Amino acid sequence: MRADSVNVQSVSHAVTDIRHDWQLAEVKALFRLPFNDLLYRAQAVHRRHFDANEIQISSLLSIKTGACSEDCAYCPQSARYDTAVKREHLMPLEDVLKAAAQAKAQGASRFCMGAAWRSPKDRDLEQVARMIEGVSSLGLETCVTLGMLTDRQAHRLKEAGLDYYNHNLDTSEAYYAEIITTRTYQDRLDTLRRVRDAGIHVCCGGIVGMGESEDDRAKLLLELAALPQHPESVPINLLVQVAGTPLAGTEKLDPFIFVRTIAVARILMPASRVRLSAGRTAMSDEMQALCFFAGANSIFYGERLLTTENPLVERDRGLFDRLGLRMETLDS
Ligand code: SF4
Repeated sequence: MRADSVNVQSVSHAVTDIRHDWQLAEVKALFRLPFNDLLYRAQAVHRRHFDANEIQISSLLSIKTGACSEDCAYCPQSARYDTAVKREHLMPLEDVLKAAAQAKAQGASRFCMGAAWRSPKDRDLEQVARMIEGVSSLGLETCVTLGMLTDRQAHRLKEAGLDYYNHNLDTSEAYYAEIITTRTYQDRLDTLRRVRDAGIHVCCGGIVGMGESEDDRAKLLLELAALPQHPESVPINLLVQVAGTPLAGTEKLDPFIFVRTIAVARILMPASRVRLSAGRTAMSDEMQALCFFAGANSIFYGERLLTTENPLVERDRGLFDRLGLRMETLDS
């Protein structure tokens, strides 16, 4: 069932639990609930808005890789860090469409295209616009992540038929300077506003396991929940530590804290798709099952996530079978 097709009874519940006025103390109290109480509460919220056994599948392709001028401390695509990522120019349209057709055949309902740019140049944006048109014509939802946008660029993407724009807040405003210095938190919020104003759905989340505190995790989710409209998609990433990036060697996050983060995201943004994103290769099947129980109902599918590894499609299918989960289709 799609979030926009919930039945009338669900909607009457839904109206009451969508809030934009959460307070930090409340969010921290959620994080500190006994684990079973937190998961029970998240699962109850989840069931009011979604079919609890259905997972939306997105596939992600890097359409322009590496040589990025930004300094995001987790990212192997930054030109500032010596990593194994090789620079690749913007992919030809035919290659993108081939990858999109393959993703659809494997069960994806949304095709996300990522380019390692601070912000797109107008001539590049036109090429991306053609990709969006081509992928849409295959019957897939489209999402792109291209960095910061101007108002005009956001409108151009909408005109091309773009469904979602991904732009993550990454972490709390307080911890942000430890992670990125080449653009501000406000820059990110400005791009999110432009995307929303252009009428494009918002995909926005963050990364945990970057050495942030519980306070930072609570503030990140609070910031997302305080947006005038909750993002339709909320990717929660577990840091993938890549050799050569400043965050390689960061102390590993307790897996239960990750599950708690998913659960709190579900409670704070009841009608949003909470996406279990980067970091799934490091998670056991049991941990992923807990994340689904805590309210994650979307994953990235496919063997690569931009430049890092992702579980094999067969492994995901096997896990879904064992858990009785179904993939959402666009007409379900
Ligand atoms: S996360 Fe995006 S903006 Fe930051 S360095 Fe990587 S590609 Fe560039």
